[in-house]
Amino acid sequence: MNSSVIEKIDKLGLCLGCGLCESVCGKDAVEMELREDGFIHPKIKKVIPEKEAIINRICPGTNVINDIDFEPNESVWGHVDKLWSGFVTDTEVRTKGSSGGIVSALGIYALRTGLVDGVMQVGGDANDYERNSLRVSYTREDVVKCASSRYAPAHIFTEIFNILDKDKQTYLFIGKPCDISALKNFLNEFPQYKDRFKLTVSIICAGMPSFNGTAAIINEFDAEYPVKDLVYRGNGWPGYFSFKDKKEKLYRKTYNDSWGKVLNRHLKLRCKLCPDGIGIQADIAVGDAWETTDGYPDFAEKDGQSLIISRTSVGSTILRQAESDQFVVLADLAVAKIKLMQPYQFNRRTRLGARLFAFYLRKGVSLNYKNLAIYGNMSYSKPISLLKEFKGTYTRLKKRRNA
Ligand SMILES: Cc1cc2nc3c(=O)[nH]c(=O)nc-3n(C[C@H](O)[C@H](O)[C@H](O)COP(=O)(O)OP(=O)(O)OC[C@H]3O[C@@H](n4cnc5c(N)ncnc54)[C@H](O)[C@@H]3O)c2cc1C
Ligand code: SF4
Ligand code: SF4
Repeated sequence: MNSSVIEKIDKLGLCLGCGLCESVCGKDAVEMELREDGFIHPKIKKVIPEKEAIINRICPGTNVINDIDFEPNESVWGHVDKLWSGFVTDTEVRTKGSSGGIVSALGIYALRTGLVDGVMQVGGDANDYERNSLRVSYTREDVVKCASSRYAPAHIFTEIFNILDKDKQTYLFIGKPCDISALKNFLNEFPQYKDRFKLTVSIICAGMPSFNGTAAIINEFDAEYPVKDLVYRGNGWPGYFSFKDKKEKLYRKTYNDSWGKVLNRHLKLRCKLCPDGIGIQADIAVGDAWETTDGYPDFAEKDGQSLIISRTSVGSTILRQAESDQFVVLADLAVAKIKLMQPYQFNRRTRLGARLFAFYLRKGVSLNYKNLAIYGNMSYSKPISLLKEFKGTYTRLKKRRNA
């Protein structure tokens, strides 16, 4: 068998398990599978050189090509057209949502106003937490079912051609920043689908933990399998990681203890080399508008508030409309506030260059990251912090562990 670009990407730890390669190459050539490490990987059955060449250009693991230009003073947070904190007025959606329910609100509002026919978004399965996949939502109820963050892998693009070729429907696409990159790369390669996507919404993302992270939390309890109704957060802000076991007993763990102490130790190498956790390429990026105490985000339970970064006029227009229809409540926010609410994202955007340099020295591979101000942003970081990032990544890659 010829050597496979896809296999190389995967072996380097750069695959995000998005499933684009299964769609492009066909299931008889590449099939996504869940492996023991708790991540979804492409299994190569046949190498088709011309298809592999396409994946080499569009794989989001190696290609992040920002197409929303920003001014020099926007280099850390990307282009900001409008900035708000806010929440949806529908209290069920606000409570179920991860932060202020703004992402779900946008889905419901886009359907209700006829902006799109469907919302492409990730949903889960109440009876099996390993079955996260892309769904098309057509109603408020469909969108609400998908609300809340799943800190785990998902099948995103495995059915993309089947969905798009079925009819001529238009979509709002919701995903992580790397899902938005993947979609944009896909649309550049297959421009015939471009006008089918009217709006993109990105959740702000610090990393995708493996399913082993989820299992590690479940196994801390004396729960009896099978477990069901597992949620990572939501039902409050930030809400609890919770699930029921075979005997319907409910187990819970705080966000700080679940994400902060377990899940974030199960991230992919690629997430540690991520140039964009803040939805730089999306029309709208949404995260947590954490309140801060002593300079650190405060995770005490309260009513959800989203951080909303609108990057395009299309994004700002729909949010303004939703506000005037009293569908959402928005409050202006100063750009300086983002750093207080999202300190991890600030550090990542200003220190990544050091990690990428270590990765290049160890693996001889440089990633196709374009128009992201990665090296310029290092001037916002202290040299000692950059040195620590470099050393940590370099040392861990030597030990063949995730950096
Ligand atoms: C892996 C991961 C890492 C995160 N890291 C951060 C962070 O660093 N900072 C921060 O502020 N917030 C982070 N979040 C939370 C996320 O940004 C919040 O969900 C965001 O504030 C949106 O809240 P909401 O109430 O508006 O969304 P909701 O109304 O709850 O909607 C959430 C949307 O996310 C989609 N979704 C859920 N899980 C996934 C997934 N695995 N892949 C793709 N789409 C998914 C759902 O389909 C839904 O449309 C992370 C979430 C995930 C899944
Ligand atoms: S296209 Fe997606 S699934 Fe395929 S190698 Fe790249 S990240 Fe992995
Ligand atoms: S950290 Fe980056 S690469 Fe990892 S899941 Fe989030 S957006 Fe994707």
